[in-house]
Amino acid sequence: MNEEIKQLTELQVIDLEIAKLDAEIYLEQSALSKREKAFNERQASIEALKEKIEAAETQRRELEAELADELGRIKERQSKMMQVQTNREYQSLLKEIEDGKKSIKEKEEEIVRIMETSEANSKIMAEEESLIKEEETALTKENAAIKKHAGKIEGKKAKIVVKRDSKAKNIKVSALRKYDMLRTRRNGKAVVGVVKGVCQGCFMSIPPQHFNDIMKGDRLLNCPTCQRILFHEPEKDEE
Ligand SMILES: [Zn+2]
Repeated sequence: MNEEIKQLTELQVIDLEIAKLDAEIYLEQSALSKREKAFNERQASIEALKEKIEAAETQRRELEAELADELGRIKERQSKMMQVQTNREYQSLLKEIEDGKKSIKEKEEEIVRIMETSEANSKIMAEEESLIKEEETALTKENAAIKKHAGKIEGKKAKIVVKRDSKAKNIKVSALRKYDMLRTRRNGKAVVGVVKGVCQGCFMSIPPQHFNDIMKGDRLLNCPTCQRILFHEPEKDEE
């Protein structure tokens, strides 16, 4: 095999190792951020519930005050009734008292409804708060574990990167540039084998003459379909 192809093949192995480590860190971190997002949403819904309960409490106090006013008005009218002169006045006061009582009854019912709803909401909130506390503890632990693990992986990666750099130094700049460009465009794989005349990057057939040239392995050749750098990879039973 041509020395340049050999070097690029070795570099590809190292780069795939690095990519695997990066993917490992990324996967763990994205799982964690998904969990953190769910946590934040949960916290926001607890906040919303809290505001709802507070608003209901304000409304209840307002209704209580209105109710007290209404009671006062009824008492006023009841004492007025002692002094009425005409039947018309009497009937009018009587109607006002009845209306007042009706309004009080409605307000009392409304207050009961508000209190029942708030009670149910408070119960949900307490449950959610205890769950979210547990989740918070778990998340803190998970975060620390992932950081520790990521640190280990980064250490491993740093060593491999040193190896990569020293290898890359021996490769011709033009070949390296081509390799790096292909790696970016072809999902991390710039150098692939050809097995039974098929490119292992895009799985398209290589024309016979081109395949013969690749088998000779004396210069850098690309796949006509995906442009990856190719080397001849004998089948397992051929080896
Ligand atoms: Zn190809």
